[in-house]
Amino acid sequence: MNKKIALIPGDGIGPDIVREGVRVLDAVAKKFGHSFTYETVLAGGAAIDKFGESDAVLLGAVGGPKWDNVPGTLRPEKALLGLRGGMKVYANLRPAVMFKQLSAACPLKDEIVGSGLDILIVRELTGGIYFGERGRNAENTEAWDTERYTKPEIERIVRLGFESAQKRQKRLCVVDKANILESSRLWREVAESVKADYPDVTLSYMYVDNAAMQLVRNPRQFDVIATSNMFGDILSDEASQITGSIGMLASASLGDGTGPGLYEPIHGSAPDIAGQDKANPLATILSCAMLLRFDFGMEKEAKAIEVAVEKVLDQGWRTGDIAGSDFDAVKAAGKLVGTAKMGDLVIAAI
Ligand code: NAD
Repeated sequence: MNKKIALIPGDGIGPDIVREGVRVLDAVAKKFGHSFTYETVLAGGAAIDKFGESDAVLLGAVGGPKWDNVPGTLRPEKALLGLRGGMKVYANLRPAVMFKQLSAACPLKDEIVGSGLDILIVRELTGGIYFGERGRNAENTEAWDTERYTKPEIERIVRLGFESAQKRQKRLCVVDKANILESSRLWREVAESVKADYPDVTLSYMYVDNAAMQLVRNPRQFDVIATSNMFGDILSDEASQITGSIGMLASASLGDGTGPGLYEPIHGSAPDIAGQDKANPLATILSCAMLLRFDFGMEKEAKAIEVAVEKVLDQGWRTGDIAGSDFDAVKAAGKLVGTAKMGDLVIAAI
């Protein structure tokens, strides 16, 4: 048999003893006609020496149809859940901002959008139904996933929602399904118990089904939305679409501030356009601005990126996804650009 073995020698005597283990495995392979290949993986102090410690993490995207049928435990998305859990980044901040220059790419009517949209969704990221107990019965005729939240898990998200609202329009909406779910009723209790600490913020509640509707009916009523993992996942994708393109939206995943944050565009790996110089890099570039702001406290530097992006859009430059209904006109004007050129333009503007 041909088999591949991952070696994690680690530190101290680790490499010495693993080396002997490998020699024995090779002897067995030879005697019994097998072939073993090895991949050495760094862990422990050896990994710290080689890679050092990072102050922030910038992520692109993972997944694609090539790996859609691999078993659940090997799914590329598992890496993301592991990374978020391991880095203890429990809050996902997703600003859904409609740049005024991109109103042509917004599917909503002008009178609904008005002068623009600016919503911040604070999504719980490491709890709830995506992490709760799941399973199937022995007959494989029943399956379950569990939505479970503790007070501290809720409180840190709700407080972040309040603090974010204080820096914005001072309105926080907690989105839940409290008419049915017990866990949602706990979200409301926690929000009520901390609201006195933020007297300048107006707190409201909305059921998630209504919120999904209100986001397209009257999105400007929202300032900051705080919600659970699954509701936030769904609503933030919806919010992204009303702003024009998923290729514009950045995100930050933050913990308690003692470790690095994780910054990534909200879109996926877009296999349909991969490798064709068509992807809009602005969501990732704007994620870099969030990285500088939240992890390094570099407000001026973050602003420089955001202003540069505005300037490039003002000048009419567009990737295909944000050209919207103006696509032909943008193309005719020679303003349709690819991934690399868009990066060049932002750099030049900085
Ligand atoms: P997707 O976000 O990759 O693509 C949806 C649509 O948006 C596609 O038409 C794509 O071409 C377009 N799009 C996405 N990003 C773009 C960009 N920067 N510029 C221009 N157009 C862009 O979502 P999907 O198709 O549902 O998923 C594809 C793969 O990505 C799946 O394997 C999925 O599991 C994975 N995924 C990963 C993440 C992540 O890594 N955080 C998030 C979502 C999906």
